[in-house]
Amino acid sequence: MTLLRFDNVGKRYASGREALTDVSFEVAPGEMLFVTGHSGAGKSTLLRLIHLTERASRGAVIFADRNIGKLRGRRMAMHRREVGVVFQDHRLLADRSVGDNVALPLLLRGMHRAEIAKRVRSTLDKVGLGDREKALPRQLSAGEQQRVGIARAVVAEPKLLLADEPTGNLDPALSTEIMGLLDSLSARGTSVIVASHDLALVRRIRKRVLVLDHGRLADDIAPGELAT
Ligand code: ADP
Repeated sequence: MTLLRFDNVGKRYASGREALTDVSFEVAPGEMLFVTGHSGAGKSTLLRLIHLTERASRGAVIFADRNIGKLRGRRMAMHRREVGVVFQDHRLLADRSVGDNVALPLLLRGMHRAEIAKRVRSTLDKVGLGDREKALPRQLSAGEQQRVGIARAVVAEPKLLLADEPTGNLDPALSTEIMGLLDSLSARGTSVIVASHDLALVRRIRKRVLVLDHGRLADDIAPGELAT
């Protein structure tokens, strides 16, 4: 089974910059993998093509058997609901509680209050913050804030979670902890793609690794096969 497939994907920005060239790979449901490579290698661009912040210039991005490059309007919005995103700087609302931040994607969907409260609580439990629902983001540590960002990204139960340098601001111990959390989400069936240039981290976690080099897929390394 395949959740996501890149078929000879190329991306050229309006500036003329060729960010991805002839990239092909598949991701299974519940799989967790890294996308790594030097700065400017095309990692963020690859994630943007999945979230439809950008569209492929060539080839096809297939998600759940659908060519998403052709989606517009309402169908594009529906696709985005199936893809959660975690940012490096987590982008939490500073004046809203942890619980309110996590509730936001569900509120936008018009879900009933009681159902939202239940989902927020169970998602915060999953990320180990069951007792911090009423806290404000600034009252949490950096690692805890990133967990809130992850909770918000998965509260609506997306099929795929995208994380762009999610541990960029965290020390190695906290980074490993956050990766463990992402791994536990993949064990529950959500596919997880983590873009990271932190090779030491990528080596420690021992997952599949896609290596980008100047926009080309230079390697697709099976879990645990990365030379240490
Ligand atoms: P990475 O995430 O690996 O650092 P990016 O995907 O951000 O790489 O960038 C890949 C290439 O595309 C780089 O040369 C970058 O300068 C260029 N690029 C990224 N975003 C844009 C954009 N919006 N417009 C033009 N060029 C871009």
